[in-house]
Amino acid sequence: MTSDIVIAGGGIIGLSVALELARHGLRVRVLERGRPMAEASWAAAGMLAAEDPENPDELASLARYSRSLYPQYLSLLERLSSRRVPVRTRNAVQATRRGASFHCAPTETRSFLAPEQARLRIGALETGGRSFLWLEELSLDPRDLCAALPAAAIKAGVDLEERTAVYSVTAKPGSVQVATSAGAIAAGAFINCCGAWAGSLQSLQLAPLQAAPGPIGEAAVQPRKGQMLVVRLQDPSQLQYVLRTPEVYLVPRGDGRVVIGATVERAGFDREVQSGALHRLLALAADIWPPVQTAPIIESWAGLRPGTEDGLPILGPSAEPNCWLATGHFRNGILLAPATAAVMRGLIEGRTPEIPLEAFAPHRPACC
Ligand SMILES: Cc1cc2nc3c(=O)[nH]c(=O)nc-3n(C[C@H](O)[C@H](O)[C@H](O)COP(=O)(O)OP(=O)(O)OC[C@H]3O[C@@H](n4cnc5c(N)ncnc54)[C@H](O)[C@@H]3O)c2cc1C
Repeated sequence: MTSDIVIAGGGIIGLSVALELARHGLRVRVLERGRPMAEASWAAAGMLAAEDPENPDELASLARYSRSLYPQYLSLLERLSSRRVPVRTRNAVQATRRGASFHCAPTETRSFLAPEQARLRIGALETGGRSFLWLEELSLDPRDLCAALPAAAIKAGVDLEERTAVYSVTAKPGSVQVATSAGAIAAGAFINCCGAWAGSLQSLQLAPLQAAPGPIGEAAVQPRKGQMLVVRLQDPSQLQYVLRTPEVYLVPRGDGRVVIGATVERAGFDREVQSGALHRLLALAADIWPPVQTAPIIESWAGLRPGTEDGLPILGPSAEPNCWLATGHFRNGILLAPATAAVMRGLIEGRTPEIPLEAFAPHRPACC
């Protein structure tokens, strides 16, 4: 049976878009060259950092829209998959570098916090020379999403094919032909959700369209390596909120594990974990919260974020007919998944988007 939509990439973005489309009656096939949710979406810290003052301003409306969709997104995943995706923390303390102060305005979910108030919320906090914000911001463990999202998508009717790589896409009037490791597949439309690899898919347009092969939609996505480590606290109540500076973050899981991240590196597709990077992260973490110094390291990893030059996602139609892009979510793909799914469905159905999407257009000057 021919699918309405073929999606390349079974990370949080591909699967969330697939789930949204399948729930609304489309026949959707997701082609994942490895295992679903095993790349950036597995490697993430899981902060839903909609109010992080380090985010580009243009991200605010999409980030807040996504945050507003999160409760229903999580309950849908839990209902369909019968797996829990618990919220791990409900607030974050954001700090500046030493000697700096914030230039952002308070919002409904972001207020200034005096250093002594910050220390009341996080015991042993090193406040010297820093300013603080108190954020209403949830965090999740992406490993919970990794278990729930593929199961939920399958339950909603998505045809999820693992170990099937997409090589190229040929756009035709009214349809697409997708060349894969399992042979050619026809569909009504195609969405590139390949994360850090989105720029490597080829488009082969049929004459009389231009015949020169190029990356599909000229997806200007480059990998941004992130290294992380996890320490274990003997007493989980020692750290109950996310603690974040522009250089490092500490994300407690509620069970004693604290994720410390992350580097942001232009290192191609390299995913090695380097001791020097982990030591630098630990030193930055101990500088603001000394108890990490005596906690044992229990895990470390590296993942590849899909980065763009302006730090904004790429959401919309590609230059080829019937082809779409939903990628480039950089540091916020976990946060932005529900909104990405909603706006992509709107675009594909030809509706006016819920929020302005010009900043995320595939062919914006800063992007391609
Ligand atoms: C260290 C780190 C920390 C992070 N922390 C956070 C955080 O706290 N909060 C947050 O919101 N975000 C965070 N992120 C960012 C977030 O993880 C990403 O933005 C998000 O996971 C991107 O999702 P994706 O589905 O686009 O990419 P991915 O999860 O990488 O999925 C892309 C998929 O496409 C598949 N694929 C690639 N090429 C092909 C092909 N040719 N054919 C078929 N399949 C293909 C890959 O195998 C992969 O499974 C973090 C990322 C990292 C690395």
